[in-house]
Amino acid sequence: MLKTRITELFGIERPTVQGGLMWIARAELASAVANAGGIGFMTALTFPDAEALRAEIRKCREMTDKPFGVNLTFLPSLRTIDYPAYIDVCIEEGIKFIETAGRNPEPYMEQLKSAGIKVIHKCTSVRHAIKAEKIGCDVVSIDGFEAAGHPGEDDVTSLILIPLTRDNINLPIIASGGFADGRGLVGALGLGADGMNMGTRFVATKEAPVHDNVKKAMIDHGERDTRLIMRTLRNTERALHNQPVDKVLEIESKGETKIEDIAPYVSGLVGKEMLEKGDMEKGVLSAGQSMGLIRDIPTCRELLDRIIVEAKEIIKEKFGQATT
Ligand code: NAD
Repeated sequence: MLKTRITELFGIERPTVQGGLMWIARAELASAVANAGGIGFMTALTFPDAEALRAEIRKCREMTDKPFGVNLTFLPSLRTIDYPAYIDVCIEEGIKFIETAGRNPEPYMEQLKSAGIKVIHKCTSVRHAIKAEKIGCDVVSIDGFEAAGHPGEDDVTSLILIPLTRDNINLPIIASGGFADGRGLVGALGLGADGMNMGTRFVATKEAPVHDNVKKAMIDHGERDTRLIMRTLRNTERALHNQPVDKVLEIESKGETKIEDIAPYVSGLVGKEMLEKGDMEKGVLSAGQSMGLIRDIPTCRELLDRIIVEAKEIIKEKFGQATT
């Protein structure tokens, strides 16, 4: 057991979080993480509408009796998203933890808090972490530049962002961006966080509901195999380097980019097909620099067991010796 403010708040055994992963964070993965002693967040927008999310929450409950949450990402989208409907379903289904991301969740805070929901706000800068504390969020998940998906526009790495966030807020902190093993967990705790979030690492697990080619790609690619797209739209995404990503970068290099110009490549629906069918040149796949640390496809339990053993060994051997 590694007790922190995060394990206490969620009522879990291990300070490890599986954050929102578009199209991947479904019941299979969130329940596997929960059963392994961490907490998983299912991504609401993965489901075409609120009723489909309701069905997935119920499915997840059948797969685990441990806590899990729902991720709600507020970013520009090619589709129209009925956020209030997704939130209503979370409340009706008794979800106790919601991870918000992409934009200030303030418009929904009163509703979420009065339903007794703990809000974990995922952000990419210290100023947004301060704001999250001010508006009543319960936890800040701080996303360093190494992270997959949308790491923000400031390009500050986890090594700087985590301690700076610790210096500026009192809330429990989840460290995110670049984490994949027990060394990362000890590092995150040392930098002032209370737990560690992993995204890319969980893609390469037995339970992740994606094609085997996608899992294998996480092993075959390294820390240098990501690219930043959509910088010109100030909606930066860190993605696995492939042909569609090169095409997007080529379009962006020509000057003013419109979302319509790159939509055929970045569309989430195309990405979904890629995850299901395993054609790794089909579309854009969010991936973090932590790919460099991924070498196998364990079960979530094997992964979290090993992370805790490794973390405890480091704490005992390195820090134990250093302080005697
Ligand atoms: P989508 O098909 O709606 O859009 C594809 C990409 O284009 C996304 O990155 C989106 O942010 C971006 N985009 C769309 N319209 C834009 C605009 N007008 N200006 C700038 N960028 C624009 O995306 P999707 O895959 O269906 O995902 C739905 C939402 O969830 C998107 O906002 C996406 O960014 C977000 N998302 C969340 C996670 C997560 O883990 N929580 C991961 C990936 C994406």
